[in-house]
Amino acid sequence: MPSIAEQIVQCLHDALGDVKKPVALHEPCFSGREWGYVKECLDTGWVSSVGSFVDRFESELAAYTGVRHAIATVNGTAALHVCLLLAGIEAGDEVLVPTLTFVATANAISYLGAIPHFVDSDEQSLGVDVRKLRTYLQDVAEMDPSGCRNRFSGRPIKAVIPMHAFGHPVDLDSLATLCRDYGLILIEDAAESLGSHYRGRHVGNWGSLSAVSFNGNKIVTTGGGGAILTNDPELARKAKHITTTAKLPHRWAFVHDQIAYNYRMPNLNAALGCAQLERMDSFVAAKRHLAERYRAAFLGCDGVKVFHEPVYARSNYWLNVLLLDVDQADRRDEVLETLYSLGFLCRPVWAPMHKLPMYAHCPRMNLGCAESLERRIICVPSSAGLGGA
Ligand SMILES: *Cc1c(COP(=O)(O)O)cnc(C)c1O
Repeated sequence: MPSIAEQIVQCLHDALGDVKKPVALHEPCFSGREWGYVKECLDTGWVSSVGSFVDRFESELAAYTGVRHAIATVNGTAALHVCLLLAGIEAGDEVLVPTLTFVATANAISYLGAIPHFVDSDEQSLGVDVRKLRTYLQDVAEMDPSGCRNRFSGRPIKAVIPMHAFGHPVDLDSLATLCRDYGLILIEDAAESLGSHYRGRHVGNWGSLSAVSFNGNKIVTTGGGGAILTNDPELARKAKHITTTAKLPHRWAFVHDQIAYNYRMPNLNAALGCAQLERMDSFVAAKRHLAERYRAAFLGCDGVKVFHEPVYARSNYWLNVLLLDVDQADRRDEVLETLYSLGFLCRPVWAPMHKLPMYAHCPRMNLGCAESLERRIICVPSSAGLGGA
């Protein structure tokens, strides 16, 4: 009987065919107009924080996602920071956030002096377990005239940030209802989920503000970059202003009307982004095709399942996830060792936030499912190129 590691290796070979080793977890794909657009920046000298590619990238991103306004930023973390700032999050507020996320989500909360309050995930979406959160809030939250308050800490609970893990949307309708019931602001961390739809509509449309990322490992990259998405014109105006040092428009004078940030995406990066966005449909198709190949290859593999998008979603499958059965959880590192040594550069999920030293003291619900998922998730190579893009 082959070990679970050996079985997984066989399935990866079946799914990926004759692939060159090592196989990266996620590589960018530059086979469109990237060279041409970047060269145009160099030839014209428009490489920095002003230029036509930034405006074009923003309007094309808005058109693609169906969110009215997009504001490009230096990275996704900066976008999250500004989303929270504009949502009115202040020092001493609590913000509900899944413990199973990339550290940027919790860090952005901390930049404002606010406190992450950790929420469990479910196995259907790998994101916020909305039902469990509702039951938890019945116990922890009390409503007073100013809004929702944590009855144990005495602090306001202001917002919730769902994160669509590996591109899979959380149950946004149920979460939006919960937010209305408790007066919570909804802010989506859509960093991983450009190209993912919830009930036919692109993610990023449920939050009052949402953040996406264009880091080198995301489905579309600008080298480094991010964007704030919002349907509210006033929030969009503020987002643009505060990410561009709050400078008042004038031909030569430098006058600024508030403390603000230099978070603007440079034109050079936006040029890359414009070329990448043109390939979006082909990237999503390739990733979904790759997910299907993984599904077929692992059908007969005991002890492990390929994660499948939730029923309400059409996911971008940014990263494909293997989920070890509960009784195989203690084999994860052995599997990772074997895969790595054979040139399949697979990864576990992030250490959950409540286990990191700076967040160990933060309030939290029972995090049993997230802790189980942490021990069982293995991310496998998922570049669009592997799916034929
Ligand atoms: C990538 C990512 C971000 C933002 O990352 P940047 O590297 O700052 O662009 C935020 N949240 C999640 C969940 C991410 O995966």
